Amino acid sequence: KHTAELIAAGEVVERPASVVKELLENSIDAGAAQVTVSIESGGVKLIEISDNGTGIEAEYISTAFIRHATSKIEKPDDLNSIHTLGFRGEALASIASVARVELTTRTEADEFATVYRIEGGEEISREPGARAVGTTIRVKDLFYNTPARMKFLKKDSSEGTFVADTIAHVALSHPEVSVKFIREGKLQYVTPGDGQLRSAAYAVLGREFSRDLIELKNQEGVYRITGLITPPKSCRASRSMQHFYINGRYVRNRTMMAGMEMAFKGTMMQGKFPGGILLLEMPADLVDVNVHPAKVEVRFARENDIFDVVYHAVKLALAQPGT
Ligand code: ADP
Ligand code: MG
Repeated sequence: KHTAELIAAGEVVERPASVVKELLENSIDAGAAQVTVSIESGGVKLIEISDNGTGIEAEYISTAFIRHATSKIEKPDDLNSIHTLGFRGEALASIASVARVELTTRTEADEFATVYRIEGGEEISREPGARAVGTTIRVKDLFYNTPARMKFLKKDSSEGTFVADTIAHVALSHPEVSVKFIREGKLQYVTPGDGQLRSAAYAVLGREFSRDLIELKNQEGVYRITGLITPPKSCRASRSMQHFYINGRYVRNRTMMAGMEMAFKGTMMQGKFPGGILLLEMPADLVDVNVHPAKVEVRFARENDIFDVVYHAVKLALAQPGT
């Protein structure tokens, strides 16, 4: 089969949150220690992301906006062994085709920055500018040239909430990166970037949720799991505080959910659900992240192993003295 066909064909850009997800992943891939995200009108009018990563070489900027030009997939096997978050090489191209984009970037080797504008896929201008090493991308007027897609958007406040969720997922799975989020001009939080999940959770999810979280840690064979869970007395009436990650990616997964909830069984009241942030690290070839183009749904080669490692990790954590 041709490699291109193995790449999920789904649209990368469905709403402001998908733009934010792709751009944040690019910043992390670029080794940024600090990232600031700011949105206006739920991200429809403006998404601005600044990082202190490597920057993009001036000669390479146009290429970065060409679909698949930067794809890291050369042979079908590569789909199973990708270690950067981005690999399709189509995010920037897709975003630039449906918005007005302004990129300002500078690498260590450059004397000044380059400001590059591209709107609806058309290069508009390129001129010298100023900024420290790193990249700033401004995405304005999303879907201005595709009214049909614009119609599928929910109201700005809902789109803003999808964006907020996306940023939270990235901030929690990358506590080593300081993530700052400004929503409609108001600072929401800054994570310290100290590498501690607990301090990222405190900044993102608040004091109420983070106060008495229990540390969780387990290794079984090729699976390693770390994270934090709520004590049984802090369980809630919804699953909104369940966050699962596999190899640094946020996922929704019934097996991980079931493993966690089964381990809590008997400790919580009826109709309550545990909260937790569970980070699973495992060999890339035992998980298929390409079930869904947005990479949120996953499929496991050995479903039972996943249940077991989660279940045991949570059981162990709950058995700690003082919980
Ligand atoms: P992918 O991430 O799949 O390679 P993208 O379209 O998201 O594709 O990005 C294209 C390329 O642009 C990346 O491979 C990277 O080289 C460069 N790039 C994008 N964003 C940044 C950034 N914030 N910092 C440095 N380089 C970036
Ligand atoms: Mg990318």
